[in-house]
Amino acid sequence: MKGLKLAALQKNGERTTFNVGDITIGKDFLMIAGPCSVESEEQIMEAARLAKETGASMLRGGAYKPRTSPYAFQGLGRVGLKYLRDAGDKYGLPIITEVVDTRDVYLVAEYTDVLQIGARNMQNFTLLTEVGKIDKPVLLKRGMNATIEELLNCAEYILKGGNKKVMLCERGIRTYETYTRNTLDLSAVTALKGLTHLPVIVDPSHGTGRKEMIKPMSLSAIMAGCDGLAVEMHPNPCEALSDADQQITGVELEDLIISVNKTVEFRSSLYTGTQV
Ligand code: PEP
Ligand code: MN
Repeated sequence: MKGLKLAALQKNGERTTFNVGDITIGKDFLMIAGPCSVESEEQIMEAARLAKETGASMLRGGAYKPRTSPYAFQGLGRVGLKYLRDAGDKYGLPIITEVVDTRDVYLVAEYTDVLQIGARNMQNFTLLTEVGKIDKPVLLKRGMNATIEELLNCAEYILKGGNKKVMLCERGIRTYETYTRNTLDLSAVTALKGLTHLPVIVDPSHGTGRKEMIKPMSLSAIMAGCDGLAVEMHPNPCEALSDADQQITGVELEDLIISVNKTVEFRSSLYTGTQV
């Protein structure tokens, strides 16, 4: 792919790895779990407890929510960041949360271990340039209308600024299909693994919008070659203030992680060397 100076996989096949807490991303399989939004101190504490108990490796939760409707819950902002930090600290989990505004990059970076750039901001070049200046890992989500090449060029913006700790996230693209919220593009995962040295994460929650699809899509994503998953889990999904239809329970997360671990092991038995 032309024009990729820093994101392209080189002939030596070397892949990016970096540490977040005890995890080496790009080497250890990353299991991100947590609610769509941080809703209250109690809710995120309970989510963190469930994430820890079931074996997740990172806690997610949105404090700044990019919502389709301006009347929908917009997130708790700075208070949400604090609740998420406290929950991560209490249960010994690193945290990830989205930054939506260039002016908030340093504030969010103060609280979080990993910054998320959401699908709607994938091509916000000012925001990409800003996170390129900081020394914190970034999860860059694929825009819902973006090609693989556009995603890689956005990663290039962050890398160009000097921040080498970038991972990509396939979270579904918009197609003519309406039964699912988006069409999870698993072929993009395999394509990306062949094009870039950056770790690739899959988000089956936004990718399908349907909780019954989380497990089959997660296991398929592993076989497609992903380095980790990001799954929405809520202590009480029916009462969630955002994305209630796609969030799984703690019990479902436990079942998912058992199968994920077995599938990751199975994958390593199929591929020797560095293919996936
Ligand atoms: C999210 O992960 O909270 C989110 C809003 O996802 P996306 O940007 O992929 O829609
Ligand atoms: Mn969500």
